[in-house]
Amino acid sequence: MADYIYTMEIRLTPDQLKGVNLVQEVARAAGITLYLTGGAIRDIISGFTIRDLDFTVQGNPLKLQKDFERAGAQLAGHDEDVRTLFLVLPGNVRAEIGMARTEVYEKVGRAPTIAPASIQEDLRRRDFTVNAMALSLNEGSRGLLLDPFNGVADIEAKLLRILHNYSFVEDPSRLIRATRFAARFHWPLEERTQQRYDAAKENKYIDHISRSAVGHEIAQLAHEDDPLNVIRALEKEEWLKVLHPHWSSAKVDTNGLGLLMKTRQQMVDLGYTVDPSAAVMHFLTAKLSDKDVSDLRRQIPRKDLIESWRDIEDHAKDLAKRLTGKEAATPSRTWNLLSGARPEMILFLAVTSRHQTVAGKIKNFLTKWRDVQKRIPLPEMTELLITPALPEYPKIARDVFMLLLDGKLRSHTETLKFLKPFAPPPPPPPPPPRRGRGPKAVVAGAAPVPGKKGEVVKGKGKGAAVAAAAPAAVAVPAAKVEVKTKPAAKAKLVKVVPQAAKRPAKPPAKPVAKKAAAKKPATKKPATKKPKSKKR
Ligand code: ATP
Repeated sequence: MADYIYTMEIRLTPDQLKGVNLVQEVARAAGITLYLTGGAIRDIISGFTIRDLDFTVQGNPLKLQKDFERAGAQLAGHDEDVRTLFLVLPGNVRAEIGMARTEVYEKVGRAPTIAPASIQEDLRRRDFTVNAMALSLNEGSRGLLLDPFNGVADIEAKLLRILHNYSFVEDPSRLIRATRFAARFHWPLEERTQQRYDAAKENKYIDHISRSAVGHEIAQLAHEDDPLNVIRALEKEEWLKVLHPHWSSAKVDTNGLGLLMKTRQQMVDLGYTVDPSAAVMHFLTAKLSDKDVSDLRRQIPRKDLIESWRDIEDHAKDLAKRLTGKEAATPSRTWNLLSGARPEMILFLAVTSRHQTVAGKIKNFLTKWRDVQKRIPLPEMTELLITPALPEYPKIARDVFMLLLDGKLRSHTETLKFLKPFAPPPPPPPPPPRRGRGPKAVVAGAAPVPGKKGEVVKGKGKGAAVAAAAPAAVAVPAAKVEVKTKPAAKAKLVKVVPQAAKRPAKPPAKPVAKKAAAKKPATKKPATKKPKSKKR
């Protein structure tokens, strides 16, 4: 049996994987059987982007709403009729938790009768074979793939196949779904499915589509990677006007949409997790009237999408205003402001702002200023022992970046001059070789000891310089030895480092801590003195 858990784990994003674990924990605690189903399984197996997580439970998920919220999920809506929760899991992961159910269609155009069911029965009411699979997330059967209609084979054959002859009659929204999936994956309809599709179209079964299905399909467009392609396919099949009679591809701001998707990719490449759905809806409906847009929004089942789409322009305006004010007076301040802003707003402003200053700052934030990071002299910092092993490292690295951004460190030399005072004292030279004299020899090795003339000179000269250039890992134990053996030196070190960090632009002429450490071997008394060996 293929190991689908392994496949799932390598295909999901880290946040999606955490989301699966969260849902699994809640279901386990409630003693409810849980499956990952539908599009998530299809995308895991086919290798396409996994857009959202569809879960099915044997039981009523609406009862678990509070448990999910306590575990960190946000409620984005629910559907009483089919007992489904719409959630946003941490990391902006969209999820649906539906009840395993049967749907019995008694008459064309009538809503089906819904009843709780097993997962096997639930899979039989689904739209296409590739969407009718479930992965068990339950103890004892975790990783078991239920594939009663051979969905894996159809994924391999790249075919969309309905489960039975009455599929489009029972639920005509499957016609829209067939067109959407065919456009997205470039998978054709299997021959008989195509015949049923054509017959359903000719007989205008689409007139019986339910309002809730229309809302669901409108919302799905927001999450397409190439929404314009899907809109055109829907228009060609005459399904777009089913979603709204005034909607057509002419109502789309195609330039805006193209730029949005390009900028989104740029942000993803920079490591952002950015949800473009609200902006996609904005551009897809850019030339529709306000009333038509409100009509569309009203039908969407997820309130998070309705709100983010409705508020996107206002939120972007707020950010634009802040970008032209004092808060963004310098590049470093702008960097801080934009680093704290929602990536969705940066994306939307990057595409829509006509204000030169705002557009310029966002452009710099996404491009030019990233290169400034490359001017942080990391190799030299390592030589100076300014490495992540230092507690104050994040602040030093940040300060140097901010000063570089603001043009306050104009050259490599100036940057090094700024950094040097933050260098911790070099570690002591290695202990002299043991001469087989027992405990005394060991004590002598604990610190640089001026024994014979030659040995002391070694500690101060070239050997010390080599130690100073040693990797970070060496610096930590060295600092510890210093603290233990020389309380006075420790006190100085603790005092000096934060002071230097507070006034980064004006480094002290000579770092006191370093000076103290450098003096140490010379002032140290010979290790042969008895009281010292007793203390240890
Ligand atoms: P997407 O990648 O667009 O999210 P999806 O397959 O996950 O695709 P959803 O609309 O999120 O689509 O639906 C989740 C699952 O619910 C589907 O995979 C399918 O199994 C089932 N489903 C959704 N709509 C229908 C429908 N109209 N008829 C039958 N099954 C449906």
